[in-house]
Amino acid sequence: MRSPIPDYLAEVLRAVESDDSGATADYIPELAAADPDRLAVAIATLDGEVYAVGDASVEFTIQSISKPFAYALALTDRGFDGVLDKVGVEPSGDPFNEVSLDDTGRPFNPMINAGAITAHSLVGAPGVGPDLRFERVVAGLSAFAGRPLSVDEAVFASEMTTAHRNLSIAHMLRAYGVLTEDPVAVVEGYTRQCSLLVTATDLALMAATLANHGVHPRTGARVVSEAVVRQVLSVMTTCGMYDAAGDWVTQVGIPAKSGVAGGLIGALPGQVGIATFSPRLDKHGNSVRGVRLFERFSDDMGMHMMEVPAASRTVLRKNRGIAGLRLYALQGGLRFAEAEQVVREVSDHPPTEHRVGFNLSHVHAMDGVARRMLLEVIRRLSLDGHDVYLIDPDRVIKAPDPGDGGRVTVVADIDDIA
Ligand code: GLN
Repeated sequence: MRSPIPDYLAEVLRAVESDDSGATADYIPELAAADPDRLAVAIATLDGEVYAVGDASVEFTIQSISKPFAYALALTDRGFDGVLDKVGVEPSGDPFNEVSLDDTGRPFNPMINAGAITAHSLVGAPGVGPDLRFERVVAGLSAFAGRPLSVDEAVFASEMTTAHRNLSIAHMLRAYGVLTEDPVAVVEGYTRQCSLLVTATDLALMAATLANHGVHPRTGARVVSEAVVRQVLSVMTTCGMYDAAGDWVTQVGIPAKSGVAGGLIGALPGQVGIATFSPRLDKHGNSVRGVRLFERFSDDMGMHMMEVPAASRTVLRKNRGIAGLRLYALQGGLRFAEAEQVVREVSDHPPTEHRVGFNLSHVHAMDGVARRMLLEVIRRLSLDGHDVYLIDPDRVIKAPDPGDGGRVTVVADIDDIA
């Protein structure tokens, strides 16, 4: 059977193809010369499958899509405090190239140029020079992409000839002590970072690495920590689309980042990475057809992050007493809301049997909170004098130690309960 997914993606591309509104970025002369009709989409799953349609292997410069990834590297290299000291996390509501600082004298966030130039300066160990820092940027972004990336020197040189605005931002940052080194060298490094060449397929895998908690779906490399990913995706959600962020969150609802060469990425946590490429931009500097494509994907594929599956109402599959044993059989995935149902059942109707068993054979996942709640129920039951058993053949609860006077016996099968 032929997969219907590429056919669906091709159909969505056809639906937006004729839209030639917007214009390529002209403040970077080399970008104005790009073919404005290019159109591509790529979707990468967390197990490394990539569906790529249209011009998905055409290279273009990453531009501002580099910002969340460089921010991730800065957080990794300097720690959260070291970075938050210098760059805020509040949406500015201003255009990406606004010459602005918040009332604490920091750039508003790392997605606008002021914050991204600062974040670039925080990549690498303190005191590292521009060359080693840039090596770290290239190695880091390449690890996100899963292949070595290189710089488009023509686009870099072209942007430097007109980089007056970014230079003025950097001089302002230097004057306010946010930047501590040569502002011109920092703008050069930042502009080189923006000139890294990527394809829609690369971008989809970079986004999928964020969606996959920081582990690249194909290489298996852990690129950054889960805590860093959470920070980056949060800032992408509130600031990634600049002064169109509110529209984007309500209409599309996927943490995202755009770039002035026409790229656009979305990272849906736990699901997929998506990238589109279409060079004509709207007045915010976001790709016109890219935004339309994402609106379609979000609607068609139910990808708005506020649309989450309802908590399972029947986490308790069975609750029965047999021959002195009270057996609770649980099912599905357990997070707070599901674990609360178990806690409530056991505390509202305490078991009268001496032995109590929790059967987890039909539980496929349990987060840290649900695990702690279930272990606490077990601890309290054993303090009340019950013998407690966990039927956990697949070991969904790792190291099941209820702590502080609690005791539990783990068995693989109900028949193993004495
Ligand atoms: N290099 C570009 C700039 O600094 C990136 C801007 C963007 O992609 N929005 O102006």
